[in-house]
Amino acid sequence: MQLADLRLRIDDRNALVHALQDVAGPDRVFTHPADLIAYEYDGCNFMAALPDLVVSPVSTDEVVGIVKVARRHHVPLIARGSGTGLSGGAITPIGGIIVSMAKMKRILHVDLDNRTAIVEPGVINLDVTNAVQAGGYFYAPDPSSQSACSIGGNVANNSGGVHTLAFGVTTNHVLGLEMVLADGSIVQLGGRGADAPGLDLVGVTVGSEGTLGIVTKVTIRLMRRREGVLTMLGIFPTIEQASQSVADIIASGIGPTSLEMIDRLTVEAVEPAIHAGLPLDAGAVLLIEVEGVREILAPSAGTIEALCRRNSARDVRTARSEEERHLYWAARKGAFGAMGRLAPNYYLHDAVVPRSQLPAIMHQVMEIARRNGIRVANVFHAGDGNLHPLIPYDAEAPGETARVMKASEEILAACVAVGGSISGEHGIGFEKNNYMSWIFGDADLEAQRRLKRSYDPDELMNPFKVFPTPVSCGELMVRRPPRLGATGLWI
Ligand SMILES: Cc1cc2nc3c(=O)[nH]c(=O)nc-3n(C[C@H](O)[C@H](O)[C@H](O)COP(=O)(O)OP(=O)(O)OC[C@H]3O[C@@H](n4cnc5c(N)ncnc54)[C@H](O)[C@@H]3O)c2cc1C
Repeated sequence: MQLADLRLRIDDRNALVHALQDVAGPDRVFTHPADLIAYEYDGCNFMAALPDLVVSPVSTDEVVGIVKVARRHHVPLIARGSGTGLSGGAITPIGGIIVSMAKMKRILHVDLDNRTAIVEPGVINLDVTNAVQAGGYFYAPDPSSQSACSIGGNVANNSGGVHTLAFGVTTNHVLGLEMVLADGSIVQLGGRGADAPGLDLVGVTVGSEGTLGIVTKVTIRLMRRREGVLTMLGIFPTIEQASQSVADIIASGIGPTSLEMIDRLTVEAVEPAIHAGLPLDAGAVLLIEVEGVREILAPSAGTIEALCRRNSARDVRTARSEEERHLYWAARKGAFGAMGRLAPNYYLHDAVVPRSQLPAIMHQVMEIARRNGIRVANVFHAGDGNLHPLIPYDAEAPGETARVMKASEEILAACVAVGGSISGEHGIGFEKNNYMSWIFGDADLEAQRRLKRSYDPDELMNPFKVFPTPVSCGELMVRRPPRLGATGLWI
């Protein structure tokens, strides 16, 4: 089956537009191609699909109205936060209505005594920490995209971040949700306490990628900053030695909050942009952070240095000031953005392996790259075993895209073969839905599908995502000539 056969046919487009305008007003319903084009991609920049309409609600009631209109016209709805997702989760493979949550971005209530806050889904992740940090608090899940991505997108993708190793992923920090279901009803899931009676529908919703409903409020947990922080860089001749140090540091009993890998090709891209002092000839740099009471930091630093040196680190540095610490983090968090220096396009992967397999899988990734004649940059959450092999390429060079796709599949298969999985944090979306059968049996997938249908019997909420479909993401790969915004677009 071809995607073109499945493309939505809207019987009465004018009636649909007018009904949406009755709900959200004419200024927040977008139909002009020049507006729609901004919603054609998410951060996964090789798949593109134009929505039929975009609507931007400002309240839960408006979301209810939009859902009821879509249901009446039998048109799919795709919620969208900031569009930084990397698995094609917020695009519209068969068309439909994008519900942009960007205007629902208020922090509604902060309760520092109980360390919780209630926020709208469009609020930007970093804005939450900015709002509470004066009192010594922060919101823990911190994706590298935290200055752009929304809490709603984080909830949908169960996003992780550079401090996942110590603090966990989004699901560990969401207490309650308000969600509009496919029939237009509003449900309250969870609450403000540590546990809520009944089935754990917050747990079911976090990570469901917008396939169960549209989240309109999120009750989150806030955390208190610890007394001190120690940030170190280990400089290694090879990525395997850096990977071995990750395993050794964790085995030593020190509980780092972050263990981030930056390999040689990444340093090549990021150092000329950020000037963090990362050596261009290192095989890999490990960024290590430990937080806690001041007394434990100095001994931890000694142990970390000894373990890194045992794995042939040629240098181990400790940030001497807050500025230096920020510089190291700017290099890590700015890495994807700097990849434009290497090639006009990149394909960023997200897989996870048991941590003990890191040295072996790094070796395999490099071998796959060599066999397929491509380069791979590795910048990733090593402490979690969460890999991000990033393949820079030129979509215009004949045959290059096909080689990239082949290598990509081989990398994912290698991770699954060592007991890993096909996504560590970016979600499945439309990019990897057809790989779900690599890790789930028929009965497992059917149980998940039945759950989805019990929320959304007509399958109008973000269809063609997460579950295997008759069509693949390859069909949405951009085949037309490049134009502004299609290539050379870096987030
Ligand atoms: C440079 C860069 C670095 C990144 N680093 C990380 C990282 O370290 N860790 C990580 O986990 N991810 C990372 N990401 C991926 C991305 O930022 C996250 O997946 C993020 O959570 C997406 O948020 P968003 O608001 O952009 O969501 P979108 O891309 O807009 O949407 C993502 C999914 O959420 C759904 N959705 C959005 N809002 C709602 C809602 N209100 N209700 C229901 N469903 C909704 C959409 O339908 C879609 O399925 C990175 C991306 C980039 C570009």
